[in-house]
Amino acid sequence: MQNIDYTQLLQDLTEEYRLRNPRSAAMDEKARQYLVDGGSHAIRLLQPFPPRITWARGAWLRDEDGHHLLDYWQGHLGNLLGHNPEVITATLGAAFEAGVGLQTGMTEGLQIECAQILCQQTGAERVRFTTSGTLATMYAIWLGRAYTGRDLIMKVGGGWHGAHPWGLTGVSYRDEYQGVETEGLTEAIADEVLVTRFNDPGILSDHFKQYGERIACFIVEPFIGAGGSIPATQEYLETARQMTEQYGSILILDEVISGFRFRAGDVGALYGVRPDLAVFGKIIGGGMPVAAVAGRADLMEQVGRAKNHKVKFSGGTYSAHPASLLATKTILNHLVAQEAEIYPRLAAFGEQTRRTFEAAFIQEGILARCTGGESEVLPGSSLFRIHFPFRDDLLINTPEIAFDPRVCDVQLSQNVLGLAWLLEDVHMLHSHGAVSSVHAEAELAFLEQASRRVARRVKAGIDSARIS
Ligand code: PMP
Repeated sequence: MQNIDYTQLLQDLTEEYRLRNPRSAAMDEKARQYLVDGGSHAIRLLQPFPPRITWARGAWLRDEDGHHLLDYWQGHLGNLLGHNPEVITATLGAAFEAGVGLQTGMTEGLQIECAQILCQQTGAERVRFTTSGTLATMYAIWLGRAYTGRDLIMKVGGGWHGAHPWGLTGVSYRDEYQGVETEGLTEAIADEVLVTRFNDPGILSDHFKQYGERIACFIVEPFIGAGGSIPATQEYLETARQMTEQYGSILILDEVISGFRFRAGDVGALYGVRPDLAVFGKIIGGGMPVAAVAGRADLMEQVGRAKNHKVKFSGGTYSAHPASLLATKTILNHLVAQEAEIYPRLAAFGEQTRRTFEAAFIQEGILARCTGGESEVLPGSSLFRIHFPFRDDLLINTPEIAFDPRVCDVQLSQNVLGLAWLLEDVHMLHSHGAVSSVHAEAELAFLEQASRRVARRVKAGIDSARIS
């Protein structure tokens, strides 16, 4: 099953997609006259052009060509309650109706309420809000460096923390990591970043033994998202906590994906691991641009007056924006109040969704495996990533394995399937997604039919392809 040439299948899918989406195609022509590649976020810009969305509600989207798309991308995995949930839109609508909600550039009570909930639900002592996960992880790194007076940042290979200078090292793996993955920064940035391997406590310990005195902070996702939808093992996170303590380094848990996804709080708690700093984003914004750094008071205080604003985690015209924080307060309260119903339901539908994907491909003789499900630590999960391993016994526990074209059919999962799903009115990016709390039986039934057709189509494409 290796090295399948998908050129013909991709051409057929592209052709069909063009015919099926004339309005989105025409809009793309225009978009590219004004926007680079027709948009503002590379991974949204599907080739040959993205479907342009006109409406989004619950599990569904509608596009310019009138297709109703079952969506598993759910706003970059931010929409835990589905698109435009009424609990949020009604609250924001009422605020706007009352003539408030837009930018004030002042400080109000909402911030206190949001920070209080975050502290109560995560064990953090202080919070500061900003507008994106990228900024939040960057500031958390600065805090770690300033506090320790050290310069080395350790991160996990394949871990995505946003496009800031240190986040752009050690993301894409092609036999090795390639240094800084953008032009416009100095290569010296790469020397400040030590890349370690996810879920490998042995290598982690070795890195600490060798460089521990220089490591300011170790930033890691407890559930690696872009790196393959893989939970950390208990042993790995425990080792991370133990080693950072031993060497006086700061442990930053990047919970931008995992925060409030598995419970109404951080996922570190499920591991019994309390980080020095945690970063939240996505879900906590309730569909608005909010992110937060939350953690130990003595660390966080470096941004404040007591420490003479030593770390300039500050500025941000739209930081702690009133409408955004109203959405944050609303969703956090909702998740806390409904925790016992929402999370088991997400886990149950998540599991059925993963099984549905796998079964459809396996029925066609294509080995498929979904990562992202329950683990020794996680009681269940709404996340998934579909992989096509070449061997049944392959353990997909690191990004390097998940995206190694020698062991998994990465071309199929990353490049071919997006269009194949869309032709069946299902949307996800790079075979990666999540169910929301409103994905239900009807969506599962729809998905089952769609998956069967996609799998049949892929099988036919593989059969007629030249196998090199
Ligand atoms: N950390 C993680 C784990 C993420 O998945 C992301 C975004 N996908 C970020 C940080 C960056 O967040 P944002 O896109 O809000 O800047």
